[in-house]
Amino acid sequence: MTARTDRSALPRGSVAVVAGGARGIGRACALRLADLGARVAVLDVDLSAAAVYGEVLSANSIADELVARAGDGLALQADLRDPVETDRAISAVVAQWGRLDALVVPAGGAITPHSRSRASETTDDDLTTLVDVNMRIVVSCCRVAVPHLRAAGGGSIVTLGSSAGLVTDADGHLAGYGMTKAAVQHYTRYLATEVGRWGIRVNCIAPGVIRTSRVVAQSTATGLVDEDAAAGIPLRRQGEPDDVADVVQFLTGPLASYVTGQVISVSGGAVRP
Ligand code: NAD
Repeated sequence: MTARTDRSALPRGSVAVVAGGARGIGRACALRLADLGARVAVLDVDLSAAAVYGEVLSANSIADELVARAGDGLALQADLRDPVETDRAISAVVAQWGRLDALVVPAGGAITPHSRSRASETTDDDLTTLVDVNMRIVVSCCRVAVPHLRAAGGGSIVTLGSSAGLVTDADGHLAGYGMTKAAVQHYTRYLATEVGRWGIRVNCIAPGVIRTSRVVAQSTATGLVDEDAAAGIPLRRQGEPDDVADVVQFLTGPLASYVTGQVISVSGGAVRP
C-alpha cells in the first residue's frame, strides 16, 4: 500500500484557472484553491464584479485576496465569450507559471429576464445570450486548456451546470437557461470520454439555489431565495458558495482520481437525478 499524504486537495503550487472567478461561486472556488496552496488565476469580464452586488472582499482586489492566501495569484480581465481573449488569457497564465493543472468554469448564469423565461416565451435574442455565456464559454475554455493540461501530464476540469439542467422549474421558468446547462452537462461527459486517456478528468457540478450576492439581490424578481423554498429541501437550507467550493476541492484533488464524466448535484438533496 502506498503512503498517503494530503490527498484532500491539489498539490501545493499547482496552477488553477477559475474562469468567471471575480464574484459568487467562482470567487469562493478561487479562494478555496488558493487557501489550499494553489497558484490561482481568476479570469473575468469584470474584475470588480463583486462590487456590483455588494459582495465584500477581504482585500483591495481579487488578485490581492489570492496573493494573501497563496503567496501568488493573478487576475486577468477577459470577456470569455471571445475565443481570442480566452486563448490570450489562459496562455498568459501558462506563460507566467509554466503549467496548468486545473480549470474551473463558473462564468455563466441565468442572465436574461426571468419574467419571459418560460419555454414558449424564450426570444431568439435571449437564447443567443444564454448560449454565448453558458455554452460557448465552457467549450472555448476547455478547448484552450486541454493541450496545457495534457502537457502537464493530466489534470482536472470542473464545469458548472445547474439543477435547471437536470429538472424543470415547477412553473416552467428558466427554460433557455436550463437547455444551455443541460448542454454543458452533456458536453462534460463527451469531453471526459475524449481526454481520460491523457489523465484529464472532467466533471460538472449542478448546483441548486446558491445564495450568491447576485442571486440574493435578484431574488425579489425571481423568488428563488426564501424560507419557504428552504423548507422544501431535504437538508432544510439553501446553498452557500462554499458548498460548491467544497466539491470543487474534491473534484480537483487526488481523492477524485477515479472520478470523471460525472454530473454532481449540489442541492441539499432537492434534486435527486
Ligand atoms: P455570478 O453572476 O455571481 O458570477 C459569475 C461571474 O462570471 C461574475 O464574476 C461575472 O463577471 C463572470 N462572467 C460573466 N460573464 C463573463 C464573461 N463573458 N467573461 C468572463 N467572465 C464572465 O454567478 P453565480 O451565482 O456565482 O453562478 C456561477 C455559476 O454557477 C454560473 O454558471 C451559474 O449558472 C451556476 N449556477 C448558479 C446557481 C446559483 O444559485 N447561484 C445555481 C445553479 C447554477
